[in-house]
Amino acid sequence: MTTAYVGLGANLGDLRRTLEAALADLADVQDLTLDAVSSAWRSAPVGCEGPDYLNAVARVATTLPPLTLLSALQVIELRHGRERPFVNAPRTLDLDLLLFGDQIVDLDRLVVPHPRLHQRAFVLRPLLELDPTLDVPGLGGLAGHLPSVVDQLVEREDMPLRLP
Ligand code: ADP
Ligand code: MG
Repeated sequence: MTTAYVGLGANLGDLRRTLEAALADLADVQDLTLDAVSSAWRSAPVGCEGPDYLNAVARVATTLPPLTLLSALQVIELRHGRERPFVNAPRTLDLDLLLFGDQIVDLDRLVVPHPRLHQRAFVLRPLLELDPTLDVPGLGGLAGHLPSVVDQLVEREDMPLRLP
C-alpha cells in the first residue's frame, strides 16, 4: 500500500461541483481508498489569463502502480471535459499526481514528485494542511518552502468540500 497525494484544480464551470465530482470519481477507482481531502483553496491562475482556480489536495492509499494511477486520473479529467488547447489553458479539471510514497519517477508521461509542487502556494498550502511534516525526496521538509511562496495570493475557503 502506498500513500499518494493528488492535486485537483478547476477554473471553468462550477468549480466546487467539479472538484466534488472528481473526488467521488477518485474514491471509485479500484484498489484505491480516499483517505483525506484538504480545504478548497482559491487562487489566481499562473502563466495565463482566466478565472480564479479552486484547488485542493487528496490523500489516497493505493496498491496501483504510479502509471496506472496517472491513467485513472486522466480518465477522470476526460470525464469532466478536459481539453488541452494550449499550455496552461483554462481547464474544467486538472488532476496531478504530486507524490507517490517516497518514490521518484522520471518518465515522459510522469514525473514524481511533481516538479513544480514546491513553487505553487495552491499546492503547498493544501498539502501541508494534510501533513505539516511532509518530507519530499529532493525537496526536504515541505514547510521550509512556504516562505518562497508567501507572495502568492491563495485563500482558504471556510466551506469544506463535500466528500463522497
Ligand atoms: P499541467 O498539469 O502541468 O498544467 P497537463 O495537466 O496538461 O499540464 O499535463 C500535461 C502532461 O503532463 C500529461 O500528459 C502527463 O502525462 C504529464 N505529467 C507528467 N508528470 C505528471 C504528474 N506528476 N501528474 C500529472 N501529469 C503529469
Ligand atoms: Mg495536469
